[in-house]
Amino acid sequence: MSSNPLSPLPGQAGFKPSRPIKVGVLGATGAVGQRFVQLLEGHPWFTVTALGGSERSVGKKYAQAANWRLSANVPAYARDITLVEGKPGPDWDCEIIFTSLPGEMAGPVEEEFAAAGYKIFSNSKNHRMDADVPLLVPEINPEHSAVLEVQKKNRGWTEKGGFIVTNPNCTTIHLVLALKPLQDAFGLKKVMVTSLQSLSGAGYPGVPSLDIVDNVFPYIGGEEEKVEIEPLKIMGGLEAGRFVDSDFVVSATCTRVAVREAHTESVSVQLGREASLEEVAAALADWEAEPQRLGLPTAPARPVLLRAELDRPQPFLDREGEGAMATTVGRLRRCPILDYKFILTGHNTIRGAAGASILNAELLTAQGWIK
Ligand code: NAP
Repeated sequence: MSSNPLSPLPGQAGFKPSRPIKVGVLGATGAVGQRFVQLLEGHPWFTVTALGGSERSVGKKYAQAANWRLSANVPAYARDITLVEGKPGPDWDCEIIFTSLPGEMAGPVEEEFAAAGYKIFSNSKNHRMDADVPLLVPEINPEHSAVLEVQKKNRGWTEKGGFIVTNPNCTTIHLVLALKPLQDAFGLKKVMVTSLQSLSGAGYPGVPSLDIVDNVFPYIGGEEEKVEIEPLKIMGGLEAGRFVDSDFVVSATCTRVAVREAHTESVSVQLGREASLEEVAAALADWEAEPQRLGLPTAPARPVLLRAELDRPQPFLDREGEGAMATTVGRLRRCPILDYKFILTGHNTIRGAAGASILNAELLTAQGWIK
């Protein structure tokens, strides 16, 4: 942390906040919450000061309340933090709150915290499509944060400075990371995607073992609608404070498979113009964007990793790429119906959830939204 007058300013490459920023996690004991607790250990900008859970956990130490499902131990810093209730107040001594609450109750809780002045970075579906809430992927639409001025005004949150920023559904985020470089280079008209989604995408304990072992589950409630709509907002524009959807069309089929972590997606695309296989491969492999320019701590050096081997990507082998913050694309080839097809794999609780929120908070800090 530096306050040197020659240090980079917000928006400039290499910017760092001049002091540690206090953060909390609400839903800290869940599948995504545990990833937050893990990824925030030793974070260079953010210091965890509050963790929240449901009635089941409030008053317990984190290590006792969390049914820890990750391979490394509960981080030492978090073990003895006492879980607090999901209500704004002195227990939440922090500026940013990362939320990973069930969709049934996340919406009003997040609004209550934002109204009280907290900066909310949400993983839940509730506010993603609101007309004044950014659905943010720092590589794709960093300029959409400007809608926060509209949000604060609309909702009367200007004085206390709270806001809500969302990140997309875990299947959408990996899809748009692969689509955006193609849209930029060639335009994009049609997308067909079939997902093979991991078990951790359903939280813990998730799908009963007898429904998934020796099986593929062909339906995930609400998922296909999200994957068809969210990319249009994320890859669209923001004009005079209003989102303008991108005009390509997505058809999605979402399935659940017996993989612990990482979603795999089989994708076919129709581009806006003719492009050779070499051009398409180069557009994916060479893509760099705003988080890479700014040097954000959680940004992958390359958001898309392109593999040439015929048997990649595989979730087991490729989910950890770039600290599990990249999308790995492989099997790029011509499609006889649309133009090109490929398979992608990406980590659902890191780049698809907690890592995405943390990267969003880093972006907004680097843009000067968190003073
Ligand atoms: P999960 O494992 O079921 O965890 C839910 C968390 O919410 C737990 O920490 C739970 O606390 C807490 N909670 C439940 N009711 C609460 C209440 N009334 N007050 C305060 N806290 C409460 O679910 P998850 O998979 O982490 O998903 C969380 C959210 O992220 C969902 O909206 C989901 O759609 C979204 N998401 C998940 C993924 C993924 O890959 N799993 C990816 C992207 C987005 P207790 O343990 O104390 O009960």
